[in-house]
Amino acid sequence: MPVLPASDARFDHKVEVLVIGAGACGLTAALAAGEGGAEVLVLERDETPTGSTTLSTGLIPAAGTRLQRAAGIDDSPEQLAADFIGKAKGKTDEKMARLMGRVSAPTVEWLMERHGVEMNLVTGFLYPGHSRLRMHGTPNRTGQELEAALLAAAGRAEIDILTGALASDLYATPEGRVVAVRVTRPDGKQETVGCEALVLACSGFGGNRDMVRDFIPEIAEAEYWGHVGNKGDAVKWGMALGAATADMGSYQGHGAVATPHGNPIVWGVLMEGGIQVNALGERFSDETLGYSEQAVVVVKQPGHVAWNIYDEQREKTALQFTDYREVLSLGGIRRANTIAELARECGLPADALGRTIAAVEEMRAGHAKDTYGRDFTGKPPFAPPYCAVKVTGALFHTQGGLVVDEDARVLRPDGRALPNLFAGGGAARGLSGPSRWGYLAGAGLLTATGFGRLAGIAAAKQVRGGA
Ligand SMILES: Cc1cc2nc3c(=O)[nH]c(=O)nc-3n(C[C@H](O)[C@H](O)[C@H](O)COP(=O)(O)OP(=O)(O)OC[C@H]3O[C@@H](n4cnc5c(N)ncnc54)[C@H](O)[C@@H]3O)c2cc1C
Repeated sequence: MPVLPASDARFDHKVEVLVIGAGACGLTAALAAGEGGAEVLVLERDETPTGSTTLSTGLIPAAGTRLQRAAGIDDSPEQLAADFIGKAKGKTDEKMARLMGRVSAPTVEWLMERHGVEMNLVTGFLYPGHSRLRMHGTPNRTGQELEAALLAAAGRAEIDILTGALASDLYATPEGRVVAVRVTRPDGKQETVGCEALVLACSGFGGNRDMVRDFIPEIAEAEYWGHVGNKGDAVKWGMALGAATADMGSYQGHGAVATPHGNPIVWGVLMEGGIQVNALGERFSDETLGYSEQAVVVVKQPGHVAWNIYDEQREKTALQFTDYREVLSLGGIRRANTIAELARECGLPADALGRTIAAVEEMRAGHAKDTYGRDFTGKPPFAPPYCAVKVTGALFHTQGGLVVDEDARVLRPDGRALPNLFAGGGAARGLSGPSRWGYLAGAGLLTATGFGRLAGIAAAKQVRGGA
């Protein structure tokens, strides 16, 4: 993945804005650059574009949308920014959190209204750290639907996407201006495409074991459920060009991936009063702190697994999610009319599980306090039929990356922008601060679509002489 001298670049074809990666970030960048009048080409390593975007639940937080107003929800960009900053314990770039708060509603509404991406508001529960109902998702809550809708929009906008096109090397001047990208095709043949501006939308380094071990050793042994083709190329090129990186130890984990099915179980069942127990039938944490930080906690339990315990009333929230319905159809959800029977179904010690549930009901009634600090009051007690699903912890997405400005321009350590390089989504530093606990649900796709759109607008302006 080297950066080669610009003087060595030989190419017949040149575009104004070249985008590497056809996930949510790359496709929104391409749509925005196309709207700005630029000639755009997207390079995608896979034959069929998927990315982590397809694997995701496809939910994007946005504050102050028409959908929220219609549902009577009072929200604001400032409130969303405050939630980002609060989740990251004040250790994220507040300017960027405020920027994402401001662009969230315009980006989601632009995707819906201008580009025909069908979305509605997720109701029924709040994700950890969100103070308002503001998750916007496709009808079945799948990233597959989101990616398909973005690809359809790109098709309508006549954006060219070259698939089976691994961007393998960049050509740049000593000042860091990228003049071309070398592409390696599946048969090993190479070609070079010239560009006036380059958008790095090829995500983070979750698919690169060595980089995960170097930067985030605590999660290196967990399964990686993101896109395996995300090998950290953006970060490697950025560093070679002299760009600044930040929060490289930060990541989005998930502490409830159904095992062996591999689908994330919506956190709403826990937020609404469900619990996690380990193979000993015992709780081990405050489940409401956040699903990202819970990944490493679950992986530390015996056998690296836990069980989500809830009831059919709470399951209603989960049934709107395709991921959950798939686990259900595969027989992954256990059900029973008594706790003893549920314990047998799950192979858990019945006495211990009974004691754990009894203790939770005491806390729900306000008669006892939780050792882990969770407040159980205000939610109804468990009622039969009871449900359980076996889960593990996983790495979804790295959150550290290239430092960018408000136009998604990649910056050097001294704050100066590289001449024609932009980044967003998993390629750029996220909003999660330095560690696992700062990830606020939906930050991944908001920074992918939000920075993607900003990058496309700014890159088009630059090549068209407007900036
Ligand atoms: C199971 C799961 C659930 C999630 N749920 C949510 C959610 O509900 N909400 C949320 O906000 N976030 C969620 N996330 C995180 C979210 O998926 C990511 O933050 C987001 O998809 C990142 O978008 P992206 O465009 O930056 O990367 P991607 O969607 O991964 O796209 C990057 C693309 O670049 C391509 N690429 C990589 N290297 C090269 C190269 N050298 N040359 C050419 N192409 C290359 C890849 O093949 C890929 O198609 C979830 C993640 C997972 C794994």
